[in-house]
Amino acid sequence: MMQIFIPLNFLGFVYREIKGSLTNIENMFKLLAIKSKTFEDGNAKNLELINACIEFKNVSFSYQNKKNTIKGLTFNIEAGKKIAIVGPSGAGKSTITKLLYRFYDASSGDILISHKSIKSYSLDSVRKLIAIVPQDTVLFNNSILENVRYGRLSATDKEVNKAIADAQLSDFVNSLPDKLNTQVGERGLKLSGGEKQRVAIARSLLKNTPILIFDEATSSLDSHNEAAIMETLKQVATGHTSLVIAHRLSTIIDADEILYMEKGKIKEQGTHQDLLVKNGFYADLWRKQSDVVR
Ligand code: ATP
Repeated sequence: MMQIFIPLNFLGFVYREIKGSLTNIENMFKLLAIKSKTFEDGNAKNLELINACIEFKNVSFSYQNKKNTIKGLTFNIEAGKKIAIVGPSGAGKSTITKLLYRFYDASSGDILISHKSIKSYSLDSVRKLIAIVPQDTVLFNNSILENVRYGRLSATDKEVNKAIADAQLSDFVNSLPDKLNTQVGERGLKLSGGEKQRVAIARSLLKNTPILIFDEATSSLDSHNEAAIMETLKQVATGHTSLVIAHRLSTIIDADEILYMEKGKIKEQGTHQDLLVKNGFYADLWRKQSDVVR
């Protein structure tokens, strides 16, 4: 049944994605099998790691017909640590995740996972290390159970249930008439932005990867829901190397390091406290967002 269902759902997904904002890059790769604009070495090895540290070494990148989207980025994320990337729209934050996932390859410089260039490994093995919680989660016209299981089709019901519990979705699921078998999506129950993000978190947990990327939703969540999602993420990120693209600074003050980007460059980096003391771009953005909240 799944073998028929998934391709049919893909078509609906393709349509919505093309119409929509194309933010769900992980599903883009998996479902559409789009050829990445990357080159796979003939001798590419499989990369299997429990822990993963990430290094960007002087990475530059330009999209076709665009100059210098990313300019000489250098930063490290130690295994198990959380880094947040902030900055204005168009700064290049999402592009960093696309380079890490090898949707594109850097024009110069290198990206390393556990001290080895990601180009020396097969695309598949790099992508098996990374789960992405996108801004805009795509739900299929299927049950909640199958929507979560999509993170790893071979997962047992028990594993899916654990991922749902860890994503703190159990209370919501238990309140539904058909529990996990409740249909969602266009022809079923419509989930709120927060519930959809929890489904995406559960999917990512099921994928069971050492690296977790969270692309914070901008408009679909109110600040209360966003804080609740970030609290869940904080708990599930334990043991993962995580990268959070953040728009509301209040959600990332606990990050081990924050990168403030503008026009493809890192302008400031440090902890929330470091950056407040520095009293530069980040502190300025923090004050502006605090004023909005007040
Ligand atoms: P936001 O906070 O709005 O999501 P961002 O900091 O994540 O922005 P990116 O999405 O990385 O920024 O985009 C950086 C720049 O690259 C922008 O000028 C954007 O228009 C451009 N860009 C992004 N994707 C593509 C693409 N596929 N082709 C061409 N240009 C692109």
